[in-house]
Order: sequence, then structure tokens, then C-alpha cells
Amino acid sequence: MSKHHFSAKSASICGHVEMTSFAYGSKSTRMSDQLYAANTICMACSSKLGALVAPEEKGFFKLQLPSLIGTVRTIPYANCLRIKRLRAIGPVMARLDKSDEPLAKVALAVYQLLFKVTEAAFWITTKDLPFDRFWMAFEVAALMRRGVTSSVRTSASSVHEYWRIRDSSVLATAAESLGALHIETALPPQETAIANEAVA
Ligand SMILES: [Zn+2]
Repeated sequence: MSKHHFSAKSASICGHVEMTSFAYGSKSTRMSDQLYAANTICMACSSKLGALVAPEEKGFFKLQLPSLIGTVRTIPYANCLRIKRLRAIGPVMARLDKSDEPLAKVALAVYQLLFKVTEAAFWITTKDLPFDRFWMAFEVAALMRRGVTSSVRTSASSVHEYWRIRDSSVLATAAESLGALHIETALPPQETAIANEAVA
């Protein structure tokens, strides 16, 4: 670590606290770094998620693909692009579906948000963008955040952003997948105590 940085504990959106490296500098720089950490998932969750969504050769996941909205020219093209994506992501979805890992359920919900996209333009705009582990980490954090923040920029390939603008009820359904996750993420101490009492 350089002398221009120092470490401090900061909480991530997933509820985990980790040491984050902050740059010495203006108060506003540090504030925005802290805000960034609070709106993204921690390193541990990020690497766990990365392993969960690693490419897979074989597998099949049954999906009902919606009809696309666009023009006579864009619809067939977008459909080809979508099928290409499904060929790559479908086997990963099948593997996630079999996993007991709570984060796997969330990742699967994010992919489902992707394949619910109906606008041909989305598939065309994102054709060269990777729906990779970094995209996934961004989407999972967005789902956890349940709102907008200016501290993390959105991208054209964000399905969270796509649905937030068009139909947030689709997001609410996807957010249900977070339920399993909250059991293992850190709750504030008093909330944990209450939860334990309720169980006992
Ligand atoms: Zn975490």
C-alpha cells in the first residue's frame, strides 16, 4: 500500500464489513470512496459470485422468451443476438439452478431479468458488451440497493436500470431472491438478537 492510501473498515451493500483502501485527499474524495463501497458488494461476495457465474459448456435451462418489440429489421437481428446470449448463459443458469448457494439464486434472478428484456434495441446496443462476472456483481449490488445512487454509474447493459425505468414490479420479483441471502449476511447486532429470539 502506498503512502497515499490508508485502510479503514467500510460496510458493503451485501452487509459485510471489510478493509477498504482510501486515498488521502479531500474529504469529498473519501466520502465518495466510502459511498462507492456502501453501494457495491464486498470482495468476498464478488469472488464467490465470479465462481458461480463462470462459463459452462453444457447444460440447458428452460426459459420462456418474450416476443421482441422493435421494427421488422431489428427484431430478427435482436433475436439472433439473444439466442447467442442464451447459448452462452443458459448452461450457467442451469448450474445456478442446481446450486444451494444463496448467491446463486440471486445470480439466476439477474439472468432472468436479462432474458425478460423485450426491446430489440437493448440486445443490439449491448451486442459487444460482456455479460460477465463484473456485470453480474454490478447487477447484484443494484438489486440489493433497491434504489438509485449517483455514486455508481449505470451502463447501457444494466438490466436493473432497464427495468427500473420500465417496470419496477419486475425488479421486486427478482429482489425476492435476496431473501435467502439475508440470513447469512451480517445484520446489525440488535436485529440479530431479535431474529434469534423469534426463532427460539
Ligand atoms: Zn459481501
